[in-house]
Amino acid sequence: MQTPTQDRLDARRVVLTVDSGEITAVDHDPANAASVDHELPSSHVLIPGLIDLHIHAPQWPQLGTGYDLPLEQWLFEYTFPLEASFADVDHARAVWASMVPSLLAHGTTTAVYYSSIHVEATTALAEACIDHGQRAWIGRVAMDHPEGTPPTYRDPDSATAIARTRESIRQLQALDDPHSLVTPTITPRFIPACTDETLAAMGALAAETGLPVQTHCSEDDWEHGHVLDRYGETDTTALRRFGLLDTGAILAHCGHLTNDDLAVLATLPGGIAHCPLSNVYFGNAVFPAAQALAAGVRVGLGTDIAGGPSPSLLAQIPASVNSARMLEEGVDPARPSGERGRADARIDTLTAFWMATAGGASVLDAPLGLLEPGRRFDAVAIDLRDAAPTFDHLPAEPDLVRFERLARLATHADIRTVWVDGRRVYDHGEHS
Ligand SMILES: [Zn+2]
Repeated sequence: MQTPTQDRLDARRVVLTVDSGEITAVDHDPANAASVDHELPSSHVLIPGLIDLHIHAPQWPQLGTGYDLPLEQWLFEYTFPLEASFADVDHARAVWASMVPSLLAHGTTTAVYYSSIHVEATTALAEACIDHGQRAWIGRVAMDHPEGTPPTYRDPDSATAIARTRESIRQLQALDDPHSLVTPTITPRFIPACTDETLAAMGALAAETGLPVQTHCSEDDWEHGHVLDRYGETDTTALRRFGLLDTGAILAHCGHLTNDDLAVLATLPGGIAHCPLSNVYFGNAVFPAAQALAAGVRVGLGTDIAGGPSPSLLAQIPASVNSARMLEEGVDPARPSGERGRADARIDTLTAFWMATAGGASVLDAPLGLLEPGRRFDAVAIDLRDAAPTFDHLPAEPDLVRFERLARLATHADIRTVWVDGRRVYDHGEHS
């Protein structure tokens, strides 16, 4: 099952031909297949690999905890001290060895990672992704603003932030990566944590290298307000002025964009990492996904580990549908009906699934997200026996109904096999 567009389901049984990790042919008449190497059981469906556009790798140890504080205090109280511990590369390796296979088992075939500020830990993260076979966009975090970062966890000055970023990119590009899984990604944490000098230098580095950028954009009232106070302009305008939006920026959250921001982003490469569960705790608002998509902006989904409490991109699919519906209906019963919500804000499961796959691929401008010729074979086999049981005494459900159950009810426990670049990287071991 896959969604070639936001409003179309493709649920045909097919035979895929894969050569060197690339899908080279799709035969829609399985009877034509002369020999099939691997046939899925009838209860299994194959979906494109899930693309998680926003993960803070060093926050893996705090996942699911500490949601009592707003973003700025959360960062200083819990998160920055934890990330600082990744100066110890042995600690980092142990965490990556837990996280990368776990995320593959959750169906995350492509992960977009912020590492810590540490070059060594960042290279070790890339090595873990290559070892376990996960496709990954990876960036050493640049953060040097003396007010937006603690003294125990920052680049001491802009020159160091730039030098460490260059060295990290050099090390990632020097790795033995035969499947080209790793894409170095320029990663200024967000405007409050960076000096103007560093933001400008990261933009210049993007222009020089052509590498993509990732950062946070208009995340919550505090962050969005900081940028308005500092520059008198929105994150989108400031990031563009610093040259950070020209090579395909992956912009996390974006819950507080203006209509002008959306119009600008629609003209640029890259797009938005929509993190619906994280936004519940830190966004101060629901990201209006329907509005962004209608404006022509590319949108994918992210867990925002550990700002979001789940490692599962599957879980973001119903979460994005639910949060959009709550935006449309409104949330405060004390307000009169008709004044509670925002019209036309809902999205359906097709759109949400598209964001988790093809939409994420469009943000990354990568040949992923669909099972069609010319794209890489990143895929997840899901056993629908629990999420969408069938009964011999009842007629078979239409494909769209089974898809809706998949999108709303399937969890990582239903995942049986995961492939990245044509290689089997996770197997639940149950093919009955
Ligand atoms: Zn984040």
